[in-house]
Amino acid sequence: MDRKQFLSRSLKASVGALVAGPILASTSSCSPSGSSDASNGSVETTPGAATTPVLQLSQVSLPYGYSALEPSIDARTMEIHYTKHHAGYVKNVNEAITAEGVQATDEADLLARIGTFSTKVRNNAGGTWNHNFFWQIMGPGGKGTPDGKVLDALSAGFGTFEKFKEQFTEAAMKRFGSGWAWLVERNGQLAIGSTPNQDCPLMDVSELKGRPLLALDVWEHAYYLHYQNKRNEYVANWWQVVNWDEVAKRLG
Ligand code: MN
Repeated sequence: MDRKQFLSRSLKASVGALVAGPILASTSSCSPSGSSDASNGSVETTPGAATTPVLQLSQVSLPYGYSALEPSIDARTMEIHYTKHHAGYVKNVNEAITAEGVQATDEADLLARIGTFSTKVRNNAGGTWNHNFFWQIMGPGGKGTPDGKVLDALSAGFGTFEKFKEQFTEAAMKRFGSGWAWLVERNGQLAIGSTPNQDCPLMDVSELKGRPLLALDVWEHAYYLHYQNKRNEYVANWWQVVNWDEVAKRLG
């Protein structure tokens, strides 16, 4: 890609980061005129054209400031995590989708058929989706424990909230290397598990499958600046910043 194309894409990625709203955006909606992609040659985004716009993923706006989750998650880690790591996944997945001519109707379709695409698409699509989810299920002023229907569901599924917390913590601690711990719903049942790398329970290739309700990033980049090797302390402090209202919305 030449410098002009790179700048064009970088600009769009930046704009995407600032726009609240749907996670999904097609290139045509990112690029109102459609003209900036004309020089690309491989992407047709002219409104009304017969070809399907190439899917492009977006980075959600962070719902709070970088320091909002202190002291559980320090501001410097949040900023680097959001602006470098997450933004990088978004940029890379969009480049790969374009370069490889990936055909997918939307993000859900892409994840459900991720096994048919390249490792670059898999890793970066997962990194994009997982972090968009992660930012939204956290927030400042958390109580540490849920109430209402979330508490009821966790108690029904795991005995007590404390037992749920123990199992989730164990999943987070036992994930060797980089990955994620998850609470998912599948066929009306709640389940805890973990995925390696940036795999996501919505992927066809994931061993753990289901609809994500809660997720914890246990990559070292998520905690190393503040906690160094002490993943257990990061996990223990993370409960304070879980936004249980967002978990309740996803529980349905
Ligand atoms: Mn991460």
